[in-house]
Amino acid sequence: MAGKVTFTMIKPDAVESNNIGAILQKINEAGFRILAMKYTKLNSESAGQFYAVHKERPFYGDLVKYMSSGPIVAAILEKDNAVADFRDLIGATDPAKAAPGTIRALFAKSIEANAVHGSDSDENALIEGSFFFSQLERF
Ligand code: UDP
Ligand code: MG
Repeated sequence: MAGKVTFTMIKPDAVESNNIGAILQKINEAGFRILAMKYTKLNSESAGQFYAVHKERPFYGDLVKYMSSGPIVAAILEKDNAVADFRDLIGATDPAKAAPGTIRALFAKSIEANAVHGSDSDENALIEGSFFFSQLERF
């Protein structure tokens, strides 16, 4: 059965352009409940760790630089079928390919600066949530 939680970040471009509130409103309107939330900034070491799964990809160096370039908002979200429903809500990685009305279509600047992160599996939702929040069993 699909899990009930996913993990998201509002990325530096969306924080910089003052879209935290608008993005959280979309998330709430789509039926997600915020279980944990943190405004913080990654340094390049922690951004590199978070995206370690992509370290062989050509965009990794730039991605780490971008994700440590400014503050982010990290959050754990709850909803039935959370991972898949959240991926639907944010749209494709490349905002040019994201469906109209999705968060990336509305707020992303580029394939790199694409406004939000969303976990791609139940297992990664727990790993990524644990990266920012301790005592996850509380949630
Ligand atoms: N990314 C990039 N160039 C690419 C693909 C991805 O800069 O060609 C960045 C982008 O910020 C993306 C992140 O790397 O959100 C992680 O990539 P992934 O393929 O996991 O996309 P996502 O799951 O975020 O849609
Ligand atoms: Mg991904």
